[in-house]
Amino acid sequence: LFGDQLAENLIEIDNPCEGIRLHGYVANPTHSRSNNRQQYLFLNGRHIRDRALQHALGEAYRGLLLTGRYPICFLNLEMPHAQVDVNVHPSKQEVRFQDGGAIYSQLLGTLRSKFLSTDLVARGDVQSLTARGNEDEIAQSTPQTSELFQWAKQELGNTSSTESSTPPFMAFDTRAVGVREGQQYASSPPTIAEEATDLASEAKGTDFLRVDPTSSPVGTAHFSPSALQIHNRYIVVENDEGLEIIDQHALHERILYEQLRDKVLAGELERQRLLVPEPVDLADSEAAAVLENREILARVGLEVEPFGGRAVLVSAYPAMLAHRSPAEVLRSLVEQLLTEGKNPGPRDVLDELMHGMACKAAVKYGDRLTLEEVASLLAQRHLAQDHHHCPHGRPTTLVFTRDQLDRQFKRI
Ligand SMILES: [Zn+2]
Repeated sequence: LFGDQLAENLIEIDNPCEGIRLHGYVANPTHSRSNNRQQYLFLNGRHIRDRALQHALGEAYRGLLLTGRYPICFLNLEMPHAQVDVNVHPSKQEVRFQDGGAIYSQLLGTLRSKFLSTDLVARGDVQSLTARGNEDEIAQSTPQTSELFQWAKQELGNTSSTESSTPPFMAFDTRAVGVREGQQYASSPPTIAEEATDLASEAKGTDFLRVDPTSSPVGTAHFSPSALQIHNRYIVVENDEGLEIIDQHALHERILYEQLRDKVLAGELERQRLLVPEPVDLADSEAAAVLENREILARVGLEVEPFGGRAVLVSAYPAMLAHRSPAEVLRSLVEQLLTEGKNPGPRDVLDELMHGMACKAAVKYGDRLTLEEVASLLAQRHLAQDHHHCPHGRPTTLVFTRDQLDRQFKRI
């Protein structure tokens, strides 16, 4: 039951807004797919495909998923039939919304605010960590999630029939409870995730599991977590729940990225102006990329001018990278420009540049940190909106609850 990683990591979404209700589940960003085939979107219970909504979903997960990974969702939109045309395509999978923009914003806004209020930390568990390589197969490996997927697939198979067999997962199957517009919802059976949580809390509630704080040699460290840097890479922190292992580079990068993003979007980034502009020689393709993206580079503090041929002149560069030479800063940003996929939007380019700068400015994997530096890093993480993921979507922190440790040591 507890191997059921996906079910435990579904986040419930329920947002009724001006007659349109968005309801269902999205996966914690720790669970993603290499394609978008596990994005199940329904409109009034009927399966649909909609590029705009898939895009909104991708935007909501921006910065939370690795490049090339796609979110998983099971979402149903309920809206008055008059506000949508379902007859644009014979298969009825494509629909046309009267106000597509509003639905796009509702989906994006609902997920964003949900993520901000949700603890998105990666739940570590030794078994799942060792099996992480084939996370796409998790659906097949555990009975509960495979039932869920089977149900969803079955829904796809018979979208035209109004009567289907009772799905094992009916939290948002409106037909099963006979809901029409404006009618109240019958209570749904508990979902797999809820059941798992119930069992988990039952287990936690067992008295013999409680540790007598006075018998614990390290103390329970409720108010001042003790932290330890290991292998010049990771910081191990004891907390109330258990322990956290933090990737020092990923966390620092995240914090710097958010600070940078706030400043760049507000146009308040500090830049260092060079008294004597510095010419930098580049390859043809690099010089072209730089000049093509001059305006975006200026937004992240790097000001360049053409200098004839393949050379460009750097006249200002971001102050946060002042410990590096202007040529080095330019070269690393050019690299970011060139690794961007084909036809990126300006926001993608800007994001990629900010990732690159945050990465360059952050403490490195392998840097020995002083106690003060560790403390300052830990103090700053609560300022970041999402300190659980680095800007590339990798987790910054793994959590091992004491309950999980007890299980692994066969104490429960
Ligand atoms: Zn990095």
